[in-house]
Amino acid sequence: MDIKFYNTLTRQKEVFTPINKEEIRIYSCGPTVYYFAHIGNLRAYLFMDTLRRVLKYNGYRLKHVMNITDVGHLVSDADEGEDKMIKAAKRENKNPFEIAEFYMNAFLEDIRKLNIDKPEIIARATEHIDIMEQYVQQIINNGYTYQTEDTVYFDTSKLDKYGVLSNRNIKEQKAGARVEFDTNKKNISDFALWIKAPENHIMKWNSFFGKSYPGWHLECSAMGYHYLGKHFDIHTGGVDHIPIHHENEIAQSKGFCGTIPANFWMHVEFLQINGGKMSKSLNNLYTLKDLEDKGYEPLVYRMFNFTSNYRGQINFTFEAMDAAKVALARLREGYLKHLEGNEEIEKEMIESYEQKFLMAINDDLNMPVAMSVVWDVVKNPKKSKKLANLLLQFDEVLGLQLNNYHKQEKSDLPVEIQELITQRNEARNNKNWTESDRIRDILISNGYNVKDSKDGTIVEKQ
Ligand code: AMP
Ligand code: ZN
Repeated sequence: MDIKFYNTLTRQKEVFTPINKEEIRIYSCGPTVYYFAHIGNLRAYLFMDTLRRVLKYNGYRLKHVMNITDVGHLVSDADEGEDKMIKAAKRENKNPFEIAEFYMNAFLEDIRKLNIDKPEIIARATEHIDIMEQYVQQIINNGYTYQTEDTVYFDTSKLDKYGVLSNRNIKEQKAGARVEFDTNKKNISDFALWIKAPENHIMKWNSFFGKSYPGWHLECSAMGYHYLGKHFDIHTGGVDHIPIHHENEIAQSKGFCGTIPANFWMHVEFLQINGGKMSKSLNNLYTLKDLEDKGYEPLVYRMFNFTSNYRGQINFTFEAMDAAKVALARLREGYLKHLEGNEEIEKEMIESYEQKFLMAINDDLNMPVAMSVVWDVVKNPKKSKKLANLLLQFDEVLGLQLNNYHKQEKSDLPVEIQELITQRNEARNNKNWTESDRIRDILISNGYNVKDSKDGTIVEKQ
């Protein structure tokens, strides 16, 4: 069956045809690790996860790169303000490398808890400075740059067109500009490729430009090229990347080798809170840990995200989270009921469910429709192991870890105990017996009995 994705580049849904059907190559813009990810950021990685799972469900092998920005991202995407890493270092009185290490690990822990299928390659910008330097030098040699005393700029007027994703041109931008732009730039859309480090700047490297550091946009082009080549299948990011960051990536790639790096550009819309923006000042910016503290296991947030397609905004409310919590519990119960049933189910019925589910996910990752098929299976009055297995098959896309769910989780165990059980189940699935024993000991010391059997693990209060 065809897979269709909405392509921001062509502004339409198109049939996805891989460049090489043996292996799909994807690049995703990853986090800037200067603070904890908020749940809006995490929506972006849940979208990336669904994309991976849907392609794998269709039988494809993936080579997927996600970057970790740990240098060079200024407060605005358009090269204004302070470097986010350095700002965070001042805030926390640490050095920027410590900041990066800490928040990168916090991010990896969040995506583990959300059961996000990790890209094959996670690439940190600071570990690829030489790759970026080689890349920028080719852009310079190809004549697409100019230099001021402290910055190498990309000259966007050298391109046939700048703004292919957002369909703008430089003249329109000038006419519509509301803010004065950096007077060192020749054109408002020009951007920094490489920057000379001020005297007391900690993140700097010896390069062709003296003690200096790369501009933020460069890392994605250089690492994308390094791991995936000049031309790959899909590039993903948030809608906020469309007007600047991804336009600049395309500009860099055209300056480097003349072409747009990816065939498909896919962008996830923003999560809203109570119908508005999330922000620290409104005190409505939540992390995954905040949700856990309020009693929601991370998979409830995953479930909540399936109520909307990635291209639509989604409105976060605690009422919607409560509904997702109930829905997840019902799904698990429904799965268990089927697991215990032995009624006969016609092959045609299973095939029809499979077909409908595949049609939904292959239609630009339409998870709300896919979930309606899941509910049809759950609510089927005939209880059958075959339907339980079908739900497990669908769970390859949903990632809700239904196979880790066993009877004891129907009871009201505290969230932290459920989380430990999930971690232990994962360790057992991975045959990591040391970790599984370690977690069992914690459960016992918290006053729980742990019994393993071939049908799973039962955890009960002692
Ligand atoms: P950053 O770490 O700031 O570079 O952002 C990481 C990712 O989160 C980017 O792909 C953004 O597009 C995305 N993002 C930021 N805010 C939201 C939001 N409210 N909803 C969904 N995605 C977001
Ligand atoms: Zn990027």
